[in-house]
Amino acid sequence: MIFDKFCWFKEKGMKRILLKILTLALIAGIFACASSSGLKFNPGTYQGTAAGFGGDITTEVTVDAGRILSIKIVSQNDTPEISKEAFDRIPKAIISGQTLAVDTVSGATFSSDGIINAVTAALQKSGVDIAALKNRKPGAGEAVQLVSKSDSADVVVIGAGGAGLSAAVSAHQNGAKVIILEKMTKAGGNTINCGTAYNTADPARQAAVSMTDAHRASIQQLITKSPAHSPFETELQQTVKKQYDEFVASGKPGIFDSPEWHMLQTYNGGDYLGKPELIRVLAGNSLATLEWLQSNGMEWTNDIWTVLGALWPRTHRPVKPLGTGFIETNLKYLEAQKDRVVILYDTKATELIVQNGRVTGVKATAPGVDYTFTATKGLVIATGGFSANKEMRQKFNTQWPNLDNASSTNHTGATGDGIIMAEAIGANLVGMEWIQLLPMGDPKTGSLSGNIEQGVEDRFFVNKNGDRFMNEAGRRDDMTKALFAQPDAWMWVICDSQSYPTPQVKNNFNESIEELINAGRAFGGNTIEELASKIGVPAANLRKATDDFNAGVAAGKDSFGRSLWRIKIDKPPYYAGARIPTVHHTMGGIEINTDTQVINKSGQIIPGLYAAGEATGGIHGANRLGGNAVADIHTFGRIAGANAALAR
Ligand code: ADP
Repeated sequence: MIFDKFCWFKEKGMKRILLKILTLALIAGIFACASSSGLKFNPGTYQGTAAGFGGDITTEVTVDAGRILSIKIVSQNDTPEISKEAFDRIPKAIISGQTLAVDTVSGATFSSDGIINAVTAALQKSGVDIAALKNRKPGAGEAVQLVSKSDSADVVVIGAGGAGLSAAVSAHQNGAKVIILEKMTKAGGNTINCGTAYNTADPARQAAVSMTDAHRASIQQLITKSPAHSPFETELQQTVKKQYDEFVASGKPGIFDSPEWHMLQTYNGGDYLGKPELIRVLAGNSLATLEWLQSNGMEWTNDIWTVLGALWPRTHRPVKPLGTGFIETNLKYLEAQKDRVVILYDTKATELIVQNGRVTGVKATAPGVDYTFTATKGLVIATGGFSANKEMRQKFNTQWPNLDNASSTNHTGATGDGIIMAEAIGANLVGMEWIQLLPMGDPKTGSLSGNIEQGVEDRFFVNKNGDRFMNEAGRRDDMTKALFAQPDAWMWVICDSQSYPTPQVKNNFNESIEELINAGRAFGGNTIEELASKIGVPAANLRKATDDFNAGVAAGKDSFGRSLWRIKIDKPPYYAGARIPTVHHTMGGIEINTDTQVINKSGQIIPGLYAAGEATGGIHGANRLGGNAVADIHTFGRIAGANAALAR
C-alpha cells in the first residue's frame, strides 16, 4: 500500500478542517498532454453514495466522453484525523490513474473503501465499463511522446540512484509520466556500491537478536540524558521509556527497538543537529519503505546485523549483493513502463528553469544534443552528494583538517550538481560542513571494497603496533578521528572463522575471504601469532588486544566504552584486512521540508521543486548513523515522487 504508515503526512495535515478537504477534493483533470484513456463514458456529472466509517459518503463525479475529470466529496461524516489522507489522496489517485484500482490508505480502510465505492456508484450511472475501470492499471494507455529536444512529463527526476529511481517509481505509481535524467551511462550512483545496509526497527526480524546488558545500558543512558536539547528529545525519551518498560514486562524475545528509539539514536548520533521533523519521517517510515520495495519485487534476507556506526542491531540485508537489489528492483519496474517512463542515460542536467517563481523544468545536455525538459507537476533533484568533488569538499569542510588528498568511497559522479543547481535558483543549503569519513577505506583506492568486517559485534581493530585504540562500535566520526591519530592513519580489522565459516563466504561487498587473501588484500593465520607475523605487527601486542577484546565480550564492557558485543574472537583461522580513512557521505545539502519540497533562503517553499537523497541536508546532523542513508534515500525518494506526481 503506497501510503502505508506514512506518518509524515499525518503529522503535517491532521488538523486541517474538513471544509478545506471538501473544497480541495474538486480536482481538475491533470494530464498536461492527455490522450484518450480508451474508456467510454456518457459525459455528465453523476452522484454516488456508499458507506464510510462514520456514515454515508456522497461523491459527485464529472466525466467527458473519455475521462474522469473531477471528483467532489459532497458529504461525509468520517473522523478527520483518521480519514483526511484518504479524502485527500484517493480522488487524486483515481483521476490521475483513470482507474478504480487504487490503493487504500492504511489506517483509513473504511473511508478509503467508502470513497472508492461512492465514486464507483456514481460512475455506474455514466455507462462506463466498471469492471474495466477496476482492472485498469493506473495510467495505462496514456502514451507519452518521447523524446524530443523539448519534451515534457508530469515529473522529471534528475539522477538515477537510489533516491531518484524510488522517486520515479513512486511518481509512476501515482499516475505520473516520468522522465529520468542520468548523467552516467548507467543507473546506480553510489547506491549500487553501498554495503547493503538498511536500518529500520522491525520487531519481527529483531526477535532473533539477543539483548545484552550493554544494550540495556545504552537505552538507559539516552532516555535519562539531561538536560534535553529540545522538546523532541524529551518526547522521545518519554516514549522510549514507556515502550521499553512495556517490552521488558512483556517478556518478548529479541532486542528492543522502535521507530522512536531509532529516532533518538539518530538525533543523538548527529549531535542533535538533525531536524526533528525529518528524523521523524525517516525512522517513522523506513519499515513501510522496506515493505514497499518488497512489494515492487525487492528480496530481503531475515538477517539483522549492525553496520559500522549504526549503534544498534537494526540493519537489514537484501538478498542481492551491495546495492544491486535496490537498483535492479526499481529499474525493472520502470523499464516495464515504456509508455509512461523514459530513462535518458549520458544526459546531464545543467540548469533549472524557473518561470514566475516556479520550477518548470530543466536544461540538460547529452552527446550531440541539448534538451529542455518541462516538468508540468514537479521536478525532483536526486543527484546525490559531493564526496567526489574535491573543490566543493574543501570549500565547505570545517570538520576535518584537510581533505584535499583524501580518497573517497564514492563514484565519480558524486559531484554535488543538484546542490549547485538548486542553490543557483535560491535554494537554501544546510549542514554543508558535515562531511562523513569512514575508517574503512581500501588503502589503495579508498573504496569500501575489501572490507572484511561482517558486522560491528564480530571484529575489533588494531593499529600498526597491534594495539586496540578505540571503541569500535562507536560513531563514524569518532572512529575516523581515532584512526587519524594512529601511525600512518592505518588499521587492521581483525575477525575469525565465525565471520567466514568457509573460505568461500563473502563479505558485504560480494568478495569471498579466499579471493581477498589470494589478491593480497586480506590475511589469514591459524593462530593470532601467525596472523601477527603476516601483517607485520608485534605478536604479543595482537595477542593482548585479542585477549582484551575477549575479556570485553565476557564483561560486556571495556575501557574504550564499547557497547556492542556478541562473540569472542577465538575460532581460528583468524583474519586481518587493512583500512584507512576515506570520504564517504556528505550530510549537508538542499533544505527540504517533510514533503521533500525545496526551501529557499527566506524559508519559503520553491514551487515545483522537490529533492531527496544525499543531495538534501538536515536529516543526519553532524554525523550520520551507518545504515541510515539507504533508508533515507528510498524513504524520501518515495515521498518526493508521490508528492511531485500529485501536485497541482
Ligand atoms: P542517492 O543515494 O541520493 O540516490 P546516488 O549517488 O545513488 O545518490 O545517485 C545520484 C545519481 O545522480 C547518480 O547516478 C549520479 O550520476 C546522478 N547525477 C548526478 N548529477 C547529475 C546531473 N547533473 N544530471 C543527471 N544525473 C546526475
